[in-house]
Amino acid sequence: MNTVDYLRISLIDQCNFRCTYCMPEESEIDYIQAQQILTNAELVALLKEVFIPLGFSKFRLTGGEPMLRRDLVSLVEAIANLDGVTDLSMTTNGFLLSKLAKPLYEAGLRRINISLDSLDRDVFRQITGRGIWEKVWAGILAAHEVGFDPLKLNVVVVPDVNDREVLDLAALSIDRRWHIRFIEFMPIGNDSLFEHKGWVDSASLRQQIGDRYGLDEGNCKGNGPADVFQIPNALGTVGFISQMSECFCDRCNRVRLSADGLLRPCLLNEAGQIDLKAQMRQGRSFADLRLAVQDLLNLKTEINFKERDRGTSGQKSYFRTMSQIGG
Ligand code: SAM
Ligand code: SF4
Repeated sequence: MNTVDYLRISLIDQCNFRCTYCMPEESEIDYIQAQQILTNAELVALLKEVFIPLGFSKFRLTGGEPMLRRDLVSLVEAIANLDGVTDLSMTTNGFLLSKLAKPLYEAGLRRINISLDSLDRDVFRQITGRGIWEKVWAGILAAHEVGFDPLKLNVVVVPDVNDREVLDLAALSIDRRWHIRFIEFMPIGNDSLFEHKGWVDSASLRQQIGDRYGLDEGNCKGNGPADVFQIPNALGTVGFISQMSECFCDRCNRVRLSADGLLRPCLLNEAGQIDLKAQMRQGRSFADLRLAVQDLLNLKTEINFKERDRGTSGQKSYFRTMSQIGG
């Protein structure tokens, strides 16, 4: 069994974008009430007293849009300063990055993933519901200037929407040490988009990019779910996260904590999840919480594979959106 040492933490379930594949305009989402969201102090205590003692060392802050969280910079600083944290990263839509790149870097954040599905302003607006491509691009450049390395760009490929931009997006890895990650669109969040158009498999993207630029395969396996390659002589890499066409549950090294403190063992499965916030607020000891989390980790291998087939077999898609789970 893989060592599970990576926690993805959703800081907030709200978002200022309305990506069609995640939180479309027309969706009705029940947001978590403010008092149900883990406070900074509760979150830091959970990391210090529960997760780090259990061997967790890698943490990613996500959402919703994590940069909407108040006191984000001080939270990042508190986490970065905890003994035992070897890797702290964030996934963001980039909207507030121009403003926050420097303070976050100074607070100790070193790795950042920015979602950028298109280089075309109109397509960007079509996908995100927001006509602010320039602002996001300026944020990416600000993060680059400040020194974030690696800087990764996440691209969800949606058929007939942004699939024709794959070569241009891959080319961003040539002149800068940027890592472009193509993510297969999953049937989470927007059934209708998925039913009509389906998803583009990574193998065909890899073929396209390889035909145009060439792709080196050697020695490029990352330690996460991405299969990583390099355009010859490029400074950065291109990677493919193929959760639809390939089952990588056997190399899964992560669990997820929602903004309201639910710990779930698998992106696609709520089975066995623990309400850490409720237990902590009821006064359960950290020693008890550690035991509960350890029990969940022991069950994880069994839980991993259970729900994955729904999406690939055309059954009803998953109920919670990535923004609610903490994608
Ligand atoms: N708001 C931040 C952002 O967009 O980067 C962080 C949260 S977002 C849920 C995290 C990642 O999940 C983004 O890269 C987004 O593109 C991806 N995502 C959301 N819905 C998805 C879906 N249905 N299939 C595949 N990836 C998805
Ligand atoms: Fe917001 Fe990120 Fe979801 Fe887009 S993918 S709606 S930016 S949470």
